[in-house]
Amino acid sequence: MKKQGILTIISGFSGVGKGTIVARLLDKYPDDYCLSISATTRAPRTGEVDGVNYFFTSREKFEAMILEGQLLEYACYVDNYYGTPKQFVLDKLSQGINVILEIEMQGALKMKEQYPEALLIFVAPEKASDLEERLRNRATETQEQIYSRLKRAAEEAVFMKDYDYVVVNDQVERATGEIHEIITNERDRVPRRGDFIEALTQELNTFVKGE
Ligand code: 5GP
Repeated sequence: MKKQGILTIISGFSGVGKGTIVARLLDKYPDDYCLSISATTRAPRTGEVDGVNYFFTSREKFEAMILEGQLLEYACYVDNYYGTPKQFVLDKLSQGINVILEIEMQGALKMKEQYPEALLIFVAPEKASDLEERLRNRATETQEQIYSRLKRAAEEAVFMKDYDYVVVNDQVERATGEIHEIITNERDRVPRRGDFIEALTQELNTFVKGE
């Protein structure tokens, strides 16, 4: 039986810098990870490319994807739909490839219910004021949208405790290294090594009996 890849879900408040960390992770360890590209009804930001950052789609098409069961999970976030295409993720995991999902908390916790072996990592700021500053400096949202995102962060804070790990993004390189280490160690956790343990046990028994 082929080893399954690890499904890692990375969430964090809007503006925390999780996108930068995920990009760094993929850049630094291209053989270890692949990224799931989400579908969204949000309009592309300057520089965003369809099929690279997201699959940008209409609300009608997104709702059809929901009805046809094409999404592993989806959520409505600040007036737009975001969802994870199912086939791509399941194919990669069954090929033994680790898949990263960068999704918000509602979707992450839904995924954990459906797929309990998913590894949930939350990227947090050192302090709340860092978030506001980052959102303002990003200059991609209006003042009203920034307020909506901060309001959403305050509501989401209560769910941080449902994650497996919280990583503070004090410095991108350090936080990226920490996340890579967490995922690497996860591979060796006993529940994920069932096949290896069974094979080795059998081998040892055969060895002893053959003496
Ligand atoms: P943004 O508009 O800043 O690109 O994304 C807004 C939020 O939606 C972020 O927290 C991002 O992680 C989340 N998100 C992106 N793709 C998905 C997805 O497929 N499912 C869910 N549930 N959230 C997503």
